[in-house]
This record gives sequence, C-alpha cells and structure tokens, in this order.
Amino acid sequence: MILNEIADEFDQCIKCGLCQATCPVCKELLLEKYTPRGKVQLARYYGKGELDLSGHFRDIFAKCLLCGSCSVTCPSGVDLKQIFLEMRREIAEKRGLHPAMEKAVTAVSSKGNISSEDNLERTEWRESLKSIPDHLYEKDKAENGSSCDGHY
Ligand code: SF4
Ligand code: SF4
Repeated sequence: MILNEIADEFDQCIKCGLCQATCPVCKELLLEKYTPRGKVQLARYYGKGELDLSGHFRDIFAKCLLCGSCSVTCPSGVDLKQIFLEMRREIAEKRGLHPAMEKAVTAVSSKGNISSEDNLERTEWRESLKSIPDHLYEKDKAENGSSCDGHY
C-alpha cells in the first residue's frame, strides 16, 4: 500500500485548520469530516488499521475535487492532494469505483459525454442565446469531453 510510504505526511499535520479556508468543498459542506484536515486524520487512522473502508468513508473521499488548493495553503507542507489521490486509489482497489464515478464512466463509454445525453442534442441550449458574447467564439464542432461540461 503506497499509503505506508507517505505516512510521514500525516505526522506533519499540526491541525491548524488553515487548509479548509481555501477548500471549495468546505465552503459547501461545513463538517469536519469533509475538511482536508479531517480527511488526513481519516487516512491516518485507516493507514494504522483502525478504520474500515465503509461506504460512508468512500463518500467522504469522493467529494474531494482533488484541486490541490489545500496542499498549496498548508504551512506544514503536507501533500494533501497526494494523500487523497492515494486514498481514492486504495478505495477503488478495495471497494470498486464510487457509484457516481461508475455512472460517469458508463456514460462516457456509451454516449461520449458525462451527462449521458444524446450528443446531437447537447448544444440545443445555444438556441436561447441572442448572440455569442464578444469574448467567446464558435467552434465548428464540439469534441468529446469526459472531463468538463464546458465542452458543450
Ligand atoms: S493546513 Fe496543513 S497542518 Fe494545518 S490542518 Fe491543514 S493539513 Fe494540517
Ligand atoms: S484537494 Fe480536496 S480537500 Fe483539498 S482543497 Fe481541493 S477539494 Fe478541498
């Protein structure tokens, strides 16, 4: 388990809480378990064999956007993003993909987009635009996008 190799990172956390100030998830979900600091502690106790990979545990880590903002903010240099990436890998290996991720993978495989919509109908919203804003431009065709609905 790669988590063992990054165990030192857990001990660098001084629990100051600064990381939650820049976490977009914390702005919406005001519970300690969703904060970077809270997730570090969960990963730490999992690494010590004191926590199981329950469905709830998987949900908590699935809500992280992996944006890395917390890693940049942390004054102790804890590589939070790497910890959360390894936890996601560990959870996927032991419990499989989160249902939401499974749904997205199926949608991309079958429809070529994460919203599972018919590609021919995905740009219909443009018909309600009076004009294309000056700072944007129109592409000839949209590419298949699995990562962002901005590809619409
Ligand atoms: S900012 Fe760093 S040291 Fe402070 S609580 Fe978050 S992870 Fe721990
Ligand atoms: S990587 Fe996850 S925990 Fe860190 S700031 Fe982004 S959403 Fe929050």
